[in-house]
Amino acid sequence: QDDTDRALINIHDEVARLYHHILVNTKMGEPALRYLHQRGLTDDVINEFQLGFAPQANLVQSFLKEKQTPNDLLVKSGLFNENDRGELTDRFFNRVMYPIRNQSGQTIAFSGRVLDKTASQAKYLNSPETKIFSKRDVVFNLDKARIAAGVTKDLILFEGFMDVIAAFQAGVKNGIASMGTSFTSQQIRQIERATKHLLICYDGDEPGQKAINRAVDTLSDSRLKLGVIQMPSGVDPDEYRRQNGDEQFQKMIQTARETPITFKLRFLKLHRNLNREDERVAYLNDALNVIATIESPVGRDVYVNQLVDQFDVDKQSLLTQLNDLANKYQ
Ligand code: ATP
Ligand code: MN
Ligand code: MN
Ligand code: MN
Repeated sequence: QDDTDRALINIHDEVARLYHHILVNTKMGEPALRYLHQRGLTDDVINEFQLGFAPQANLVQSFLKEKQTPNDLLVKSGLFNENDRGELTDRFFNRVMYPIRNQSGQTIAFSGRVLDKTASQAKYLNSPETKIFSKRDVVFNLDKARIAAGVTKDLILFEGFMDVIAAFQAGVKNGIASMGTSFTSQQIRQIERATKHLLICYDGDEPGQKAINRAVDTLSDSRLKLGVIQMPSGVDPDEYRRQNGDEQFQKMIQTARETPITFKLRFLKLHRNLNREDERVAYLNDALNVIATIESPVGRDVYVNQLVDQFDVDKQSLLTQLNDLANKYQ
């Protein structure tokens, strides 16, 4: 980190405190605070994540100018939009603010959420790429989650940072998230350094299921031992907690675990009519392709037996085909 990096981090630190102050101590922040309380967050958790509010006014600019912050730093910070004439306006306004921290816990960016979802605005707006913030390198909450997880325990990968915060509120403090993008190798390396076990707990809607499938593929080359925590259809972890309470949330995290293979075998069934013979055959072929990636013969046998039971097919013919495929994969 050079002098500019440190100055930019310092700016983010001060702005995070400003946003947080506005949220918790001022009249301007009241609607946003009510919104967060309605989402089931306590003041403790709001403080812990230093959540904030960016009001309508061009507040950050006057705040930073008051502190004699040089103009080129303002531009580099990513906190402003610049027009043709070089005039700056606050990038974030009328949004609930979530500070994004690096692995050392320094604030390097923000994500802002609209209070109510209107069609004209993106639900979340992130800081742009800056000298100190590259979306591809950031794993949300990794700084705290790795401490909560210790050396041997799991990390839980959620889809959104509201899910990480909701889990924290429910006492599950080892949650992390990407920034709404698919996983990069830089992020995987950071997670590998922090843990051996990663549980993927994405939304129970269709995009969430597709994202799990992609994440399992991306992460299967890593050294991480993977598990999947399956949400009920249509809900995300934050919604699950609000509907079922903290205790049930913890229980679900502990019990709703499946192996990546079991997830894939279930995922492959979606949108397939298994009453039709041709689709059953297609499914079995796809399923065998998944099972063939398992290295241990005993491991493969477990899943082959499941197919035999489910589809009333001859085990020997499954094994013959599986061996052909296994030779291809190994
Ligand atoms: P909330 O509960 O506040 O509605 P969420 O976490 O359930 O948020 P999802 O719609 O499930 O949000 O999206 C998951 C993640 O994808 C978000 O946390 C965010 O990082 C990212 N994301 C979603 N919508 C946008 C957007 N319009 N622009 C940028 N990132 C987005
Ligand atoms: Mn989602
Ligand atoms: Mn969601
Ligand atoms: Mn949500």
